[in-house]
Amino acid sequence: LEAKEEFRHKTLATDVMRPRKSNPPLSVLTQSGMTVEEVERVIADTSYSGFPVVLSQQSQRLVGFVLRRDLIISLDNARRHQEGVVSVSSVLFTECNPPTSASTPPSVRLHSILDLSPFTVTVHTPMEIVVDIFRKLGLRQCLVTQNGRLLGIITKKDILKHMAQMANRDPDSILFN
Ligand code: ADP
Repeated sequence: LEAKEEFRHKTLATDVMRPRKSNPPLSVLTQSGMTVEEVERVIADTSYSGFPVVLSQQSQRLVGFVLRRDLIISLDNARRHQEGVVSVSSVLFTECNPPTSASTPPSVRLHSILDLSPFTVTVHTPMEIVVDIFRKLGLRQCLVTQNGRLLGIITKKDILKHMAQMANRDPDSILFN
């Protein structure tokens, strides 16, 4: 990873993060309260590589990040091999088991595939620093927050596109060569 060429523009994380104003909102999952079919719907309706997991839709407080491929494998596994799992089974990213009653179907527990410390920056973080962190940590994406609320995501490709726009040349030669 060459870091010879410094990124010297005054852009901030908020300028590069998605979604843009015109885009659909960030696709997130909640730590609890979603069913298997609701999570499967999110997977089917989007093609994102991963999903932030939040405490609640209302708080948008970040809990972790889950990769699409891990989610697909785990749900598929649960559907096939975990007894009693149905479409209305709860999906739980929490660590502790909530009390269950005999009348509700078993939950699918996905705490183990949750990255509990996804990298985050704030909307005010200069892109110069974000680029540096991506390079040094080899990140694929990072999350963007403001006052503790999750607002957006920046992927490596978003950065490359942004750099190409700024430099107006082949992005691969600048950042991750
Ligand atoms: P890549 O940027 O490598 O194509 P993705 O497929 O995950 O990676 O993301 C495609 C675009 O959607 C990017 O611009 C990214 O910022 C945005 N994005 C990624 N994950 C989400 C998400 N969960 N909700 C909304 N937008 C997302």
